[in-house]
Amino acid sequence: MSNTTETEPINSDLSGKVALVTGGSRGMGAAIARGLAAAGADVALTYHQNKEGAEAVAADLAGLGRRGLVIAADSADPAAIGDAVDRTVAELGRLDIVINNAGVFPYGPVEETDLAEIDRTIAIHVRAPLLAARAAVPHLGRGGRIITIGSNLVERAVFGDIALYTMTKAANNGLTRALARELGPRGITVNTVQPGPTDTDMNPARGESADLQRGFMALGEYGSVDDIAAAVIFLAGSTGRQITGTTLTVDGGGNA
Ligand code: NDP
Repeated sequence: MSNTTETEPINSDLSGKVALVTGGSRGMGAAIARGLAAAGADVALTYHQNKEGAEAVAADLAGLGRRGLVIAADSADPAAIGDAVDRTVAELGRLDIVINNAGVFPYGPVEETDLAEIDRTIAIHVRAPLLAARAAVPHLGRGGRIITIGSNLVERAVFGDIALYTMTKAANNGLTRALARELGPRGITVNTVQPGPTDTDMNPARGESADLQRGFMALGEYGSVDDIAAAVIFLAGSTGRQITGTTLTVDGGGNA
């Protein structure tokens, strides 16, 4: 049987593709949106509160000659996820790449964890990627991509007070493996990128616990948002065509 991928060039050219990035208004999501656009894709990006940030990212995409679509969508709201997918398809014409990036960092002793925060974190980290897949899969053709931003902490929880965060991020890996099996026959790949400490508002390289985190890393330095974007672009391009159901850890050797 001939392998049709043999004739496809291997590169990260995303010309003609359309991506949706959740939480694209700042941090990694903004860098991923810019990276996808630099590789040739038009990009829809959601935000929760930071409309200005999202619009600034969209302006950057326009500067790269690409279309950017800003969508207000709280990932904790189940209807908002489906609407974001529908608007992307309606306004940008198709959907090829879904990046589940929106995230929060609940932190504190387990006995003080608030029920509303538990439910909200589960909604954002666990339910939203599943709902995004449910809405997006009917639109994804061969070469489609689903990439979720997880966390290296799911493999090694190196300090306390992160039970809720780590539990919910661990769900991404199960979703990735199961969806990869389900969607593989349709030529769609599904993967998780697991960042380690990466300099953003969520985890500033000059933050209180930054030196503690550096101490766990083989390279001893925080990653940048562009390190994460580079991994995502690699998986999104035909460079990632044979990679599915797995995790790509970008953590400066935090889990080495
Ligand atoms: P930031 O806090 O810098 O940015 C978070 C982004 O997610 C913002 O765009 C924010 O939107 C959006 N967001 C948050 N909550 C929601 C919501 N309910 N609905 C829609 N969008 C939302 O975080 P990072 O860039 O650091 O994190 C990106 C991802 O990477 C997260 O999933 C995080 O868990 C993960 N991660 C981060 C690490 C790090 O060291 N930074 C390490 C490992 C994983 P708005 O601007 O509108 O608030």
